[in-house]
Amino acid sequence: MQFIDLAAQYQHLKSRIDQRIHTVLDHGQYILGPEVQELEAQLASYVGVKHAITCANGTDALTLALMALNIGEGDAVLVPTFTFFASAETVAFANATPVFVDSDPDTFNICPVDLEKRIQTIQQEGKFNLKAIMTVDLFGLPANYAAVQKVADKYGLKIIADAAQGFGGAITDLKGNTQRAGSFGDIATTSFFPAKPLGCYGDGGAIFTNNDEYAELIKSYRVHGKGQDKYDNVRIGVNSRLDTIQAAILLEKLAAFPQELANRNALADHYHSQLGDQLKTPQVPNGYLSSWAQYTLVAENREHYMTKLKEQGVPSMIYYGTCMHQQTAFKDLGYQAGDFPVAEQLAKTVFSLPMHPYMTAEEQQRVVRELTI
Ligand SMILES: *Cc1c(COP(=O)(O)O)cnc(C)c1O
Repeated sequence: MQFIDLAAQYQHLKSRIDQRIHTVLDHGQYILGPEVQELEAQLASYVGVKHAITCANGTDALTLALMALNIGEGDAVLVPTFTFFASAETVAFANATPVFVDSDPDTFNICPVDLEKRIQTIQQEGKFNLKAIMTVDLFGLPANYAAVQKVADKYGLKIIADAAQGFGGAITDLKGNTQRAGSFGDIATTSFFPAKPLGCYGDGGAIFTNNDEYAELIKSYRVHGKGQDKYDNVRIGVNSRLDTIQAAILLEKLAAFPQELANRNALADHYHSQLGDQLKTPQVPNGYLSSWAQYTLVAENREHYMTKLKEQGVPSMIYYGTCMHQQTAFKDLGYQAGDFPVAEQLAKTVFSLPMHPYMTAEEQQRVVRELTI
């Protein structure tokens, strides 16, 4: 059994994907070819934003967002400590300082109460110029944007929404309005790394915004700070584009995505109904839809369950066993054990089950059986 079965997905979409790849090979516009613009238009429409700008990967997408917000030396960005390294890495790469925030124990996402506490502490110390909050839609569940937006407005901060795992997720408010992941905050980003909910067959990423000025800056930054054309360079940028072949693959994968999202949610429902009595299954707040980048359980004795699964050939993984403030690369920031009690506990107790849209009923039952006998 595969943890994420990308080959099964390819078999399902093979003829259409092969056709798309051949079209690119025939027209030969390998960089920023017509499929890239076609994909960007479709992504913007799916997410519900004015601008979708593709780039080379989800890490670059965050870097480009930070560049557009002019975040650099002396600035600080609030980032959840329980996330993938790239969220915090890009802040440090921009020469700014990540200020870590604890997590909500049920959603695993940034805790709005701890967020405000950390902001007040930073303001009292006066060491940094606080610029932005980076939310992460961890494991596919959108962050608590209503609460985070209130804090951002109160303290005059921008929101960068890292939806690398969240693409496809959504929040429906009390009035019945639904907003998809990627449309929250000032700038949102995603990743098309193969194992993400919407993945390509290599590296890829995208940036989403409703702000025309940010969109223009990001389009310039991603091609060496171009002005009128790529040989007119008006600012220092990077080289970060999505290959046309990857855009072509993504066009077919995006077409299949709504069904895949439904399959993922059906699998999550199955896990929840079969495991919910015995294990702490992931919580989805009312009105939220997860894209289930991971299906993550919490157990004090996770080793027991992971060993049992492994003995029967069922893979399971730990995302994440190390918080950002515990990473060697961030040791100079001076955080101590106990600074983030919820996240530290999660790092010791979480484990994730196989989750992908093409899992057979037999495979689903095997996972459940090994956890419940
Ligand atoms: C995967 C991921 C990224 C980085 O995406 P890449 O395409 O691998 O560079 C950033 N943030 C989070 C939360 C991720 O899961």
